[in-house]
Amino acid sequence: MTKPYESELKTALAAVKQASLICRSVQSAITDEVLEKKDKSPVTIADFSSQAVICRELLQAFPADPVIGEEDAAELKESENREFLEKIVSELNAAGVPDTTPAHVCSWIDHGGAKTYSDRFWTLDPIDGTKGFLRKEQYAVSLALIVEGKIVLGVLGCPNLPCPAEGTVTGTIYYAVAGQGSFAMPLEQNNSQASVPIHVTKTPDFSESRFCESVESGHSSHGHSQQIAEQLGIEKDPRRLDSQAKYAIVGQGEADIYMRLPTRAGYREKIWDHAAGVLLVEEAGGTVSDIHGKPLEFNQGYELSNNQGVIVTNGLLHPKLIQTLNELGISQ
Ligand code: AMP
Ligand code: MG
Repeated sequence: MTKPYESELKTALAAVKQASLICRSVQSAITDEVLEKKDKSPVTIADFSSQAVICRELLQAFPADPVIGEEDAAELKESENREFLEKIVSELNAAGVPDTTPAHVCSWIDHGGAKTYSDRFWTLDPIDGTKGFLRKEQYAVSLALIVEGKIVLGVLGCPNLPCPAEGTVTGTIYYAVAGQGSFAMPLEQNNSQASVPIHVTKTPDFSESRFCESVESGHSSHGHSQQIAEQLGIEKDPRRLDSQAKYAIVGQGEADIYMRLPTRAGYREKIWDHAAGVLLVEEAGGTVSDIHGKPLEFNQGYELSNNQGVIVTNGLLHPKLIQTLNELGISQ
């Protein structure tokens, strides 16, 4: 008997694995010189390569499904960017992706160009946490399937997170299917036999809890999170890391809370920055809402138009945290 979304999961795991390995190889080639020049080319190449290989797999397996991805190929098609396009083609060739031509690469990337809501669609962030990618720290490849407004499948490639299934191996693929739990497996093995279930903590008190947040204070207010931590008696230092790796950290019980607090009025979170991570935490037993305690609405197009910020907890700590945010009047 097949489980719901079994073939979608198989495709998504293979696609995210391929993209994560390409990103890892591009990241490993980043030199100090690139960093000093603040040259963003590695992230550009990895970002487009990741979207190209994932969309190619989705197009083959589920040609009717729209993909709301972060990138499109408009810039790549401009003649001054020909060099970038060639580099992407050679990355894909090196990874053994068949039929790789400049025209195919652009059309694969553009397959991820849907913007509006539909009853069944994928959402993709080919590299979430580009700043972490350039710093050689955390980043994630994030893919989720949304059916009738509900996240039914999420896969998160975290090439720089140690795998709970393997102890010392670095590189993890996390996955969750609605109603089937959350799992982690080593990036390089990618077979479900090597996977282990993950669970959120059972920490009942803020005094014992740890929270995580963005490295970038422009993406989440560090001042407000500190204010909340003081109010709630959180004593441990926050763990700061880029990307949806934060959802993985809460999902596997290394932190109890992830706070993403608005930094400016009017910013709306993008669905590809959250969908896979949200399901991962919920299936690991946790709770996700916006800062007002409202569920995130994935039926509004490419933005979470009806939500502000994001709060992720082990569930037990959720009501009090939302109440405190409300009492302190933290919003934008
Ligand atoms: P993080 O790695 O958690 O810092 O989040 C990275 C993501 O932050 C990127 O993928 C952007 O889409 C998103 N982002 C950009 N500007 C903002 C902002 N002002 N507030 C919240 N998120 C943002
Ligand atoms: Mg992102």
